[in-house]
Amino acid sequence: MTDPTVGPAYDPAAVEAKWRRVWEERRTNATDLRAAARPYYNLMMFPYPSAEGLHVGNVFAFVGADIHGRFQRLRGWNVFEPIGFDAFGIHSENYALKVNQHPGRLIPANIANFREQLKRVGLMVDWDHELATTDPAYYKWTQWIFLQLYHAGLAVRKRAPVNWCPECKTVLANEQVIDGYCERHPTVRVTQRLLEQWFFAITQYAERLLENLKTLDWSESTRLLQTNWIGRSEGAELVFTTPVSDPIRVYTTRPDTVFGATYLVLAPEHPLVEGLTARDRREEVQAYRTRVAQMDVVSRRVGDRQKTGVFTGAYARNPATGESVPVWVADYVLMEYGSGAIMGVPAHDERDFEFARQFGLEIRQVVKAARGDPKLPFTDWEGTLVASGRFDGSRCRDGARDIAAWLAGQGLATPQVQYRLHDWCISRQRYWGPPIPIIYCDVCGAVPVPEKDLPVLLPPLEDFRPDESGVSPLARHEAWYRVPCPSCGNAARRETDVSDTFLDSAWYFLRYPSTEFGDRAFDRELTRAWLPVDSYIGGNEHAVLHLMYSRFITMVLHDLKLLPFEEPYHRFRAHGTIVKDGAKMSKSRGNVVVPDAYLAKWGADTFRMYLMFLGPYQEGGDFRDEGIAGIRRFLDKAWGAMGAAGNGAADRRAERRLHQTIRKVTVDLEALRYNTAIAALMEYLNLLRDVTGLAEGRAGAAVAASLLEPMVILLAPLAPHFAEECWERLGHADSVFQARWPACDEALAREDEVELVVQVNGKVRGRMQVARGMSEAAAVEQAMADQAVRRFLEGKTLRKAVYVEDKLVNLVV
Ligand SMILES: [Zn+2]
Ligand SMILES: [Zn+2]
Repeated sequence: MTDPTVGPAYDPAAVEAKWRRVWEERRTNATDLRAAARPYYNLMMFPYPSAEGLHVGNVFAFVGADIHGRFQRLRGWNVFEPIGFDAFGIHSENYALKVNQHPGRLIPANIANFREQLKRVGLMVDWDHELATTDPAYYKWTQWIFLQLYHAGLAVRKRAPVNWCPECKTVLANEQVIDGYCERHPTVRVTQRLLEQWFFAITQYAERLLENLKTLDWSESTRLLQTNWIGRSEGAELVFTTPVSDPIRVYTTRPDTVFGATYLVLAPEHPLVEGLTARDRREEVQAYRTRVAQMDVVSRRVGDRQKTGVFTGAYARNPATGESVPVWVADYVLMEYGSGAIMGVPAHDERDFEFARQFGLEIRQVVKAARGDPKLPFTDWEGTLVASGRFDGSRCRDGARDIAAWLAGQGLATPQVQYRLHDWCISRQRYWGPPIPIIYCDVCGAVPVPEKDLPVLLPPLEDFRPDESGVSPLARHEAWYRVPCPSCGNAARRETDVSDTFLDSAWYFLRYPSTEFGDRAFDRELTRAWLPVDSYIGGNEHAVLHLMYSRFITMVLHDLKLLPFEEPYHRFRAHGTIVKDGAKMSKSRGNVVVPDAYLAKWGADTFRMYLMFLGPYQEGGDFRDEGIAGIRRFLDKAWGAMGAAGNGAADRRAERRLHQTIRKVTVDLEALRYNTAIAALMEYLNLLRDVTGLAEGRAGAAVAASLLEPMVILLAPLAPHFAEECWERLGHADSVFQARWPACDEALAREDEVELVVQVNGKVRGRMQVARGMSEAAAVEQAMADQAVRRFLEGKTLRKAVYVEDKLVNLVV
C-alpha cells in the first residue's frame, strides 16, 4: 500500500528545525503579560537539572502539560507557559562531590543542556521568564520570604535530631538513610545527633491546609495523600498521676478503651523518664536511652520491626480504674507525636499487643464485637464496651465521648485535636543552598539580616565538603562567616546552615511573571492578573512535601497581605508514570529510555504523540520500541493527505466523522485523555483516506481542504511542528496557533442512519439500517420485506404493528 507521492516525503528533522527557528523569530511563544485579555497560567513542575540531562519521565510530564497549554491557547486563552530550574540541593551537591567538580560550575552547564533539550521537545515555553533557584536574583527573594516568616513569628529555632553517618562524618537527609544504614556506607548504621535548627510553624496552619482541600479542583489521589499527611485525629489527653513525679499526660484517639490500659510507655527522650525511674532500674534505662539516641530518625518510624523497651520500675494510676499500671520506656513511641507518651491498650491496638506479648504485660479486653468473640487485638470502632464500669454496653463512639467527659469532670482529661503534620525543618548543614539570612550576636542574639543587605550571597567555596563538625562548610569561610552585628555593630557570626530546597520550590510560581523585577519578589499587578495558577500538572511524588509547603507559604503571604489569594493552584492533576517493556526503568536494568536518541531518530512530534499514546496520561503506560512506528505511519499518512488537498466538496460521511472527531478530541483533551484523542484522529484519517481513494492510491485522488484544516488544528497541541508545516502547506501565512479551535456542528455530526430492531410477536427477528426519522408505514413495509423476518411471517396475517421511531418495529401476527 503506497500513498500517491505528492510532494516531498515527511522529514521531521527539517520540519522541526524550521519551526523552532520560526517560533523564536516570530516570538510565537512569548506572552505579553500586560496585554492579555484572558490570562491562563499553565504551570508544570520545574526540573532539577541533573548532569544526565532530561529524563523520559520529565518529557512525559512536560509534554502532557504542554498539550494542555496549547489546547487552551487554541481555545482563545492567553496562555503563559514558563519553565525554570530547581538547581540547589543535595542532589546537585552530592553529584558534584562524586565527580569532584564545583556545583557552581556544573549547574550552568547542565541548565544549558536542559534548555536545548526542552526546546527540542517543542514546548510552548516563554523563555523570557526562565528562572533558576541558584541565581542570586532569585534566592534573594527566597531569603526575603524567610525574613517575612521570621518577622511573623513563624520561623523559630529549636533543637531537633538529625541523621548522622559516623563514616561520612556528616548529617544525612532522610532520603540518604536506607533501612537505617548510610546510602554510601551500607554497613554503617546511621545515628542521631541533636542540633539547633530553624523550623517553619506549618502546624499552625494544619486545620486550614486540611479544610481548604475541599475547595480545590485536584486529583483525588493527591488530595487523599495530603489529607493523610496532615493526619487530623480527634481524641483526648488523659492524665495518669504518679507518686514520684509530675503526672504523665497521654494523647489517645480511643479514650473509650482506657479501662483496658494496663501499662504506659514513654519515649526515651521524655523529660519525666529521669525522675520516674526507680533507683535499681537506672543503669538499664540509661543504657537503653543511649542506645536509642544512636539510632537514626527514619528507622524509628518503621513499624514492623521487633519491639524493644525497658521497665522504669515506676507505676502510674489509671484515671478510669484507679489501678496502678507499670511505666515503660520504648523507642516505638516518638517524642514528636502527641506528648511522647502513650497508654498501652494491648487488647485493642496492634503495636501495644505485640509489646505486651513480648514483655508479658496484662492484656485486658474492654471492647466486644457485635457478633462472636473477636480475635485480639480487636481494633474496630464497631463494638460495645465491657469491663468498663458504668460504661458497659456503650457503643465505642459514645463511650469515647462519655468517658472523656466523665474524666474531664474530674480534671483528668482534656478533649484534643491532633495532627500528624510536623513543623517544617528548613536547616541543612550543607553548602549548596541559599544561606539562611540570620546573624548571631553575643549581645543581641539571633538578628535577621536587614532586607537592604539581601541577598546573602553563597560564597564560592572551593572546598565545600561537609566535615565531622556537623556544621555547614560555610563555617570554614572566615571572611564570610564573621560579620558585624546589624543591630549593635559588635563582632558577630553568620548562620552557616542553608535552607531546604523545598523552600526554593515553595514559591517559584510566584516569581515567573515577575522575573524582570529586581526590586520585588513578585509584582502586585502582574500577580493579580496571572495568579493563582490555572492549571498545575506534576507527579504525585511531590503531592505531599512540595504541594503542602507551597500552599503553606502562599497562606502565610496572604495573611501578611502580600498576596490576594491563599491557595496557589486552582487545579492540580497528577500524571502517571511510564515503564519500559513492563518494568520500572533503571540504570541497573539498562532499560532507560534516553529521550535524545528517540528525538534524533523519530523527531519530537512522533515522540510526543507516542508518549501520550501509551495510556491515559494520569495513569501512564508501557513504552515499547515497536509501538512508535505506528505513530510515525499516522503522521506520514496525514502528510500525504495534505499533498492531496483540493477545493472539491466534502464527502458527507467524512464530514460527519470530522465533526464527531472534533467533539471527541475536545472532550478528551479537556480531560487529559490524550491517548483516546489520538486514536480518534487515527480513525478519522483512515476513513478520510478510504472515502477519497487515497488509501488505495487512486490516481488523482483529492481531499477537500475543509476536511483537512480542522484536523490540523486538532493535531496541533499534540504534534506542533508538524501541524505548523501542514498549515503552511494548506496556504496559511499565520501560525496554526493563531487559529481557533474548531467547533463541533451537532447537526453535521448526527448519524443519518439508525439501526432498527425488528420483532415478530415481541421476539427479535432481525435488524435493519434505515434513514433516521423513517415513517411508520415505510418502516413496516421494509420490515415485512426483510429476508430474515419474512419466514416468521409466512402464512400469517399482520394484526397490528408497534413502531418506536429510530428504535424498533414490532409486528404482531
Ligand atoms: Zn556514610
Ligand atoms: Zn548585636
